[in-house]
Amino acid sequence: MKLVSNIYFDNAATTKIDQSVINLMNNVMTNNYGNPNSTHSFGRSSRTLVEKARKSIAKEFNVLPSEIFFTSCGTESDNLILISAVKDLGVKRIVTSEIEHKAVLNVVKFLKLTESIKVEFVKVNRKGLIDYKDLNKVLVKTNLKTIVSLMHVNNEIGSVLDLIKTGDICKKHNALFHSDTVQSIGKYRFDLSKLNIDFIVGSAHKFHGPKGIGFVYINKKLKLNPQIIGGNQERGLRAGTESVHNICGMELAFIESYKSFDENKKHIQGLKTYFIKKISSSIPLLKFNGSCDDDNESTFSILNICLPVSKDQSVLLEFNLDLKGVACSRGSACQSGSSTGSHVLNSILSELDLKKPSLRFSFSKYNNKAEIDNVVEILSDFVNSN
Ligand code: PLP
Repeated sequence: MKLVSNIYFDNAATTKIDQSVINLMNNVMTNNYGNPNSTHSFGRSSRTLVEKARKSIAKEFNVLPSEIFFTSCGTESDNLILISAVKDLGVKRIVTSEIEHKAVLNVVKFLKLTESIKVEFVKVNRKGLIDYKDLNKVLVKTNLKTIVSLMHVNNEIGSVLDLIKTGDICKKHNALFHSDTVQSIGKYRFDLSKLNIDFIVGSAHKFHGPKGIGFVYINKKLKLNPQIIGGNQERGLRAGTESVHNICGMELAFIESYKSFDENKKHIQGLKTYFIKKISSSIPLLKFNGSCDDDNESTFSILNICLPVSKDQSVLLEFNLDLKGVACSRGSACQSGSSTGSHVLNSILSELDLKKPSLRFSFSKYNNKAEIDNVVEILSDFVNSN
């Protein structure tokens, strides 16, 4: 079989930026260079673009534009929410899980050290799913003002949190609820007016937009103070001149992903199903990590597999894939170079499976079945020769 080179199956790390987004950003950089905070016509035209983008995002989520704030990325958004929840909203306890992204876990660790915040981890089962009974139990324990921070879609194994159930549990116990939705924006529809949720976050580079731009939704009942201090931008919550071209790029990528929502979902889901079928018959001893082969419990774009070879073969396997132009991931991108491996896999896999190499494949609208055929062939050749 002829090898197709440059197969990009690392869309949970970042996505290819849409050409229409690049064109628009070029146009904005060329023609709308006014500072959106200036009152002259150049500034006003930039301001119009920024506020239009805010309205587009708010409309999709059925919230007010004033509840959307632009940031530089998902990490900044998670930092802003958790740190401000402690500093401004009187939060004394954070309830989270061991499988959150480091953008949450390391902030929680920091707040525990610097602000003496009580931290509790809710139980997660072998499939990477939150134990809702345990969440109830943990929340009932004390009267400390609490924020629950649980991600919607896990970036490594794709397990999905039930936002309705979690929001209802948080409401019952009077806890604030933050969900890291970085992996689900553009792939799930949210009517935030119907959910008991206080904060969600987005990052444009995960939905075919530019890097260096993100947003937070903050429920209008909650007032936070800025962590970046200076001018009065973003209604005083985040100082710094708005990145107009990035905001416009994010808006277009966001609109496009919801405009083609059903079509993209069907295509990507089809790829994942095809991958599962092909690889299961080529490598029968392979395992799927978490519940990523179950559509009800896992997202349609992420597949994490555990290969039936020894971990000693990992480096060779990665080298082999890279040599053949295949991009996938060992864990999350930020895990690269870590000698301790993935904290997510460490918390859900058995000792035996941790001794085998695991790989994450994450798909986008730009992938196709021929790419899957190639990758499955590379993987099965590798497994059969080792
Ligand atoms: N949260 C999750 C679940 C992610 O997957 C990522 C990125 O991989 C982030 C947060 C951080 O987002 P950003 O790269 O925009 O800082």
